[in-house]
Amino acid sequence: MYDFVVVGAGFAGCVLAERIANDLKKKVLVIEKRNHIGGNAYDYYNEDGILVHKYGPHIFHTNNKEVWDYLSRFTEWYYYQHRVLAYVDGMYVPIPINLNTINKLYNTNFTPKQLAEYFEKIKENRQEILNSEDVIVSRVGRELYEKFFKGYTKKQWDLYPSELSPEVTSRVPIRINRDDRYFTDRYQGLPKYGYTRMFEKMLENEKIHIMLKTDYKEVINSIEYGYLIYTGPIDYFFDYKYGKLPYRSLRFEFETLDCEKYQEAGTVNYPNDYDFTRITEFKYLTGQKHNKTTIVREYSAAEGEPYYPILQNENIERYKMYENEANKLKNVFFIGRLANYKYYNMDKVVEQALKLYIDKIRQ
Ligand SMILES: Cc1cc2nc3c(=O)[nH]c(=O)nc-3n(C[C@H](O)[C@H](O)[C@H](O)COP(=O)(O)OP(=O)(O)OC[C@H]3O[C@@H](n4cnc5c(N)ncnc54)[C@H](O)[C@@H]3O)c2cc1C
Repeated sequence: MYDFVVVGAGFAGCVLAERIANDLKKKVLVIEKRNHIGGNAYDYYNEDGILVHKYGPHIFHTNNKEVWDYLSRFTEWYYYQHRVLAYVDGMYVPIPINLNTINKLYNTNFTPKQLAEYFEKIKENRQEILNSEDVIVSRVGRELYEKFFKGYTKKQWDLYPSELSPEVTSRVPIRINRDDRYFTDRYQGLPKYGYTRMFEKMLENEKIHIMLKTDYKEVINSIEYGYLIYTGPIDYFFDYKYGKLPYRSLRFEFETLDCEKYQEAGTVNYPNDYDFTRITEFKYLTGQKHNKTTIVREYSAAEGEPYYPILQNENIERYKMYENEANKLKNVFFIGRLANYKYYNMDKVVEQALKLYIDKIRQ
């Protein structure tokens, strides 16, 4: 008999299992269909001994001190701040677009004030922001949109920005100063010994049992439990009764090279060249010293693991039908990126899991 069953051992599942076992002192069974814990943040040492992220580069960043402090109970941090270059017109320029990007690209010497005036001059006026193209052209005009956003978005989504809702490109800032950090959150870093080690620490409690390589539907009817916490895909939970919620997937191509360093930044984006969207070199992120280096090329894909919900109106409407069903269930909690059909960063998932614990579970 378990007090709680948690489906999925990613951030959402691990935070809740940890809180329920350590704080509430209740018994938890974690069921995970993959052969490891950690969800998409899972990392491991490859055959050359280099720490890599199996499901693409994950950089932790948050402005939420409570979330940072909570995770700091289970890990120390490698204080890394991510920097990204974009390969555009045969040059490597910093992205998000900032003063240095423009000055390098156009061989100008703008000050922040002059750059603001320049953007003001080249931007296209829009009465209403209806899609992701509108977001960018109304800030920096068509040419920069085409160099940095159009091709990248098409590769990533197989859709043009004009076909996607505004959220997709409004996540990317545009700056007139020289700040070339990808994220500007107060707390940024990676768990010093890896995400997987951090998750192991979170689940280190004899009240927590973990069942790997198991789809919860195979076993759930033979388990006695009080509450279910579900972090898997919401449409799967309801047997796709309203149809499938579509996702964009990724294919990762890892390569280990016999040199210490491959590129000039943690990640290099390729908006217009090649078929991959970006290359990440893990040693930048983890701070690991090694005489070899591992990179990963990311290719966007229509089929495969569900990574990015496709934010189009009909899908959002379909999700709402599932959400409505979910709200009727009294002993099941739906949480995390798959159960909520949203793109969440890791800190948001931790924040929501802690909130769910305090508001609904602990009382
Ligand atoms: C390529 C990529 C890069 C990213 N980079 C960043 C980043 O740099 N910074 C950041 O903050 N966020 C990043 N994210 C987002 C981050 O991955 C998510 O915020 C985080 O993984 C969400 O945790 P979760 O627990 O909701 O979901 P998940 O980590 O997906 O965990 C859900 C778990 O449920 C399991 N599961 C599903 N169905 C079943 C079932 N039927 N039975 C049993 N188990 C099941 C899955 O196997 C999975 O392990 C990135 C995402 C992607 C795709």
